[in-house]
Amino acid sequence: MQPVRELLAKEHRINWAGIGDGMHVIATLWMVAFCAFLAATGAKANDAAYDGAVVFRSTVAENSTLDIELSDWNDDRRRFVSAMIDDMLARAPGLFARATQAGPLNIYLTTTETPSHPAAAWARRRHENSLIVRHDFFRTGHPNRFGVDYTHWLFVHEIAHLADPVDRIGQSPAWSDAIVPVIANIEADLAAQNMNLRQAMFAFRDEPAIARGLPSVYAAISIHEALAELTAAVYFDIDLDIAPAPRAVLLEHQFALPTQTDSALTDHYRRAYRAYRDGRFDDASAILSEAIDLDPTFGMGHYLLGYTHLQMGEARLAYADWQRSLRLFGDIDPLLASEVASSIETIRQSLGK
Ligand SMILES: [Zn+2]
Repeated sequence: MQPVRELLAKEHRINWAGIGDGMHVIATLWMVAFCAFLAATGAKANDAAYDGAVVFRSTVAENSTLDIELSDWNDDRRRFVSAMIDDMLARAPGLFARATQAGPLNIYLTTTETPSHPAAAWARRRHENSLIVRHDFFRTGHPNRFGVDYTHWLFVHEIAHLADPVDRIGQSPAWSDAIVPVIANIEADLAAQNMNLRQAMFAFRDEPAIARGLPSVYAAISIHEALAELTAAVYFDIDLDIAPAPRAVLLEHQFALPTQTDSALTDHYRRAYRAYRDGRFDDASAILSEAIDLDPTFGMGHYLLGYTHLQMGEARLAYADWQRSLRLFGDIDPLLASEVASSIETIRQSLGK
């Protein structure tokens, strides 16, 4: 999100450049190349549909803020992705249902370079339910260390993120209790070798993670990446000794059909996000309040409501929203918590609390 200091200074005028996809700190790592925010380019309707739940788009969706060069899909490429979706419908129908719980999944093929992810350019936007692939996505014959084709693993990994669109699983105490100790153990093992996680990641030192039941050291970078990587590990049933606790959470939630509340909160969040983005802050506030009535522990709801209230000039309300969100995910989601904590501090200073 835009720094709170700027919002306070601007008296509620918004500069949309840079706002929006900072919504999720982790997601921004993948989206460096897609951070110019413009209104949708007027493209309408489906280009092609897969089972109604997936749309192969060669034009940007109506409500999207994506600003990328798009390529056309051809039959071979559609078939390539469709085969992976068929596989998912057979192996993990709950996972697929979760990823499409509040509307179809838009899949884009881009020519835009993304230097942050040179191997196969990917980005996801959970609030737009989109997935972006580049031409080299269609390469095959590159198995990872577990014998799973790189592209197929990546596809399941990204769907795993989309399957938890408003962090109902990722920010849950159950997931935190299951995964935080695993990550802490890996960090301790690495520290004993004078390494931290990022150094290990850039050195492709996956062994310390594998020894603790994560498929890659990248999985230990955050609770969300752990969720995505372990989802892929369970999906492909790889030869890995996954700890029982995270496996149980995945099977009970990530691989299960979404509940009505899951879908309702996702739908509310996406509508509220669009309203916020379009400057309809009263609408955003009303939608988020409805969502929080449905589930008062909806951390991302309080989080976005904080930004909405700030835009409405209600800094005190924003302050309270963010304190609530910190109580809900402060111990669970350190990256997002640090963003919220610094926003709270900025408001505290400006209010002279
Ligand atoms: Zn990921």
